[in-house]
Amino acid sequence: MIQYLKPILVKCPRCGFSSSDLNIFECPRCGEPLLIINNTEVKVSSIAKVRSLKPYLTKYVSLGEGLTPIIKLGSDFLKLENLNPTGSFKDRGASLAISHVVSMSKYGIVIEDSSGNAGISVAAYASYSGIKARIYVPSDIPRGKYLLLRALGADVILAGTRNDAHKAAISDKDGLYIGHVINPYFIEGMKDIALEAVKQLGTVPSYVVTPVASGTLILGLWKGFKELRELGVLEKVPRLIAVQACGYSTLKDKVETIEVKCTEKSRLADALRLTIVPRINQIVNAIKETEGLCLIIGDDELLNSLRTLWRAGITAEPSSAVTYAAMRYLRECSLVKNGDIVLGIITGSGLKYVDRLELIV
Ligand SMILES: [Zn+2]
Repeated sequence: MIQYLKPILVKCPRCGFSSSDLNIFECPRCGEPLLIINNTEVKVSSIAKVRSLKPYLTKYVSLGEGLTPIIKLGSDFLKLENLNPTGSFKDRGASLAISHVVSMSKYGIVIEDSSGNAGISVAAYASYSGIKARIYVPSDIPRGKYLLLRALGADVILAGTRNDAHKAAISDKDGLYIGHVINPYFIEGMKDIALEAVKQLGTVPSYVVTPVASGTLILGLWKGFKELRELGVLEKVPRLIAVQACGYSTLKDKVETIEVKCTEKSRLADALRLTIVPRINQIVNAIKETEGLCLIIGDDELLNSLRTLWRAGITAEPSSAVTYAAMRYLRECSLVKNGDIVLGIITGSGLKYVDRLELIV
């Protein structure tokens, strides 16, 4: 039985730098965010014997994240990451990133920048651990998300655009910058989505469809499926389909891209507006390696899909609706064949956006 994987090194996917110091987040040679290399040369006879793909740490902080359900909608499957403790998949990453901070036991304040969901997760897990969270957010953050951050005990700093918030956070030296865009523990926290999906579906999905902004989720999926293959319990990995919002695509022209009714800059996909993406080359590699592609979704299609999801009882946030829009497109254009298993990730909860539901009622 594998309870946790043993982390061996941090490694730079760009220049090959590696170190046994597992507390370094960025390459000292070239600046690329690092990845953790775990020992996958372990004998394991079946996936049922893999309990988690998380790296071993001395302490873990949990609010009950993970083990989210998969439900069927039409011919396709949806993994409901909106049902995590604070309503987004980021709870998995925040849980492990704060676990790492607590295991180091030398920081009383953590710093993050976020359009909302990652900040809310970090605020919750930090508060639970008795650590102060300082979160830099764009000035047009939805009011509900702003209040959630404050209610969870975070110091919230409004900082212009999404990119301004990122720049301000990385230059704040009062505490440890645990930013999900560079922190390798965030990615490690995502990997169990791959493990759970194969166990729940009883097979490897043909396609996994997921929104992409900073890339923690798609990279966590990619790494999770790859590690399961290295452990010898999977033969193939799914094709990874990245979905982005119109006007904010960082993958366009870097991988095979299809634009779906993309005419003007998205006003609705507020969680997908990051344009500085330090791991962009890693994301491109993951998509190419799995023979995936990128779909860019316009707001009209986003809204149609959001309405369909809510009418089916699925309380997704607007940025998650691009997943379902992409899944519909893949079926309608026969890019996905009968018999292919398609799994989409519903990344966040629409219950944080009650004020925006006027658009779909
Ligand atoms: Zn490097």
